[in-house]
Amino acid sequence: MTDTSSRNAELAARDLAHVWHPCTQMREHAAQFPLIPIVRGDGAWLIDADGKRYLDGISSWWSCLFGHANPRVAAAIAEQAEKLNHVMLAGFTHEPALRLAEELVQITPPGLTRVSYAGDGASAVEIALKMSFHYWHNTGQPRRRRFVALANAYHGETLGALSVSDLPLYRAVYGPLLFDPIVAPSPDWLDAEPGENPDDVARRRLADLRALLERHAQEVCALIIEPLVQCSGGMRMHAPSYLTGLRKLCDEFDVHLIADEIAVGFGRTGTLFACEQAEITPDFLCLSKGLTGGALPLSAVLTTDKVYDAFLGDYAANNAFLHSHTFSGNPIACAAALASLAIFHDEPVLERNRTLASHLAQRLEPLREHPHVSGLRQTGWIAAFDLVKDKASHTSWPPAERRGLCFYKHALERGLLLRPLGDTVYFLPPYCIDEGDIDCMVDVAIESVGIATT
Ligand SMILES: *Cc1c(COP(=O)(O)O)cnc(C)c1O
Repeated sequence: MTDTSSRNAELAARDLAHVWHPCTQMREHAAQFPLIPIVRGDGAWLIDADGKRYLDGISSWWSCLFGHANPRVAAAIAEQAEKLNHVMLAGFTHEPALRLAEELVQITPPGLTRVSYAGDGASAVEIALKMSFHYWHNTGQPRRRRFVALANAYHGETLGALSVSDLPLYRAVYGPLLFDPIVAPSPDWLDAEPGENPDDVARRRLADLRALLERHAQEVCALIIEPLVQCSGGMRMHAPSYLTGLRKLCDEFDVHLIADEIAVGFGRTGTLFACEQAEITPDFLCLSKGLTGGALPLSAVLTTDKVYDAFLGDYAANNAFLHSHTFSGNPIACAAALASLAIFHDEPVLERNRTLASHLAQRLEPLREHPHVSGLRQTGWIAAFDLVKDKASHTSWPPAERRGLCFYKHALERGLLLRPLGDTVYFLPPYCIDEGDIDCMVDVAIESVGIATT
């Protein structure tokens, strides 16, 4: 580990002198597990400074759709960088931003016609929350100032996004700084009562939500949801019928619906957008992660003419949406996004994914019988299971044992990058993965389950 003859070790040591990494207890890098310096990406693979290859089974936090260093995306970035790096989007525009807006309006659910840009997922969530609140202010309902969020939700880590998130690991310590949403129970199908199917769970949770809205709708701006899969909350899944019912309830109680498809958008659930499976249009749609094919930070919030029109008026009325980020609609990032969308356009991506996703499902099936695996589940391209101490009673391992981390370390050693959320192992590979690599990924995962649960 302290072998300084290795290029990995040298880079890791220099890094640790200054770089403060996200989502990391920095002390552990010094001793327990070394940082891995990556020098190159090649399709579904990452290559470290000592030449070791890792199959990226989670698309580097669910972002790189078509693999690392995708040549079409890379060429678009290079071409745009030579023409125009950046110009502010206030008072100016450029073709990549307007073309991307045109295309996003084309491919997202009908009725979403207005596109606002930001840099990261969390900033998109901030925009959606602020726009919804401001809409009610502009339309004479200033009493509406609360949000409904789901139990187990995750929407990012800036203060507003964290406020509507429900994961104590990230939220608890900042509690005093945050606003409190009204929390509705998650429609997670793993919470089924005996005899219930996912649609039954959805129906029961919609009834809970109705009761909640009957009490609170007058003070609510919007409900925010990760459609079909609560990703950071442990890849918890729900039936499309929940979304259909949700749209109806939001209409009935005149509450905005914010769909956070930052993780699930761009084909992850099997359809281009998760909302399509319920045939609904949200009032706000948040996109990021895969938007640029995972090459550059960019996010977008789409909304309706109805919302947009409520912000038009005399300058003096101060009802415009003045929220801004310096790099809103950056031309290079927009060019990357256009290149990524062109791949969807030119290739049968979703069809190919369906074939590969069923291959993955088939290969994972033997794990269903494993004595320490529970809740094997899949929605489209996202598959997951939980490592448990006792399958029959659904007893988790004591968190201090960090079985998921043990899984992670063993898989990495074997050249596979899967980064469990606690004890939840999940697969979210780039779309360029082939059947051979899926087989290799599942074989190593099964071996790692064995190591992590003995
Ligand atoms: C990752 C994620 C975010 C936050 O995006 P960042 O770019 O990390 O700020 C928000 N919502 C969901 C559903 C996410 O998965």
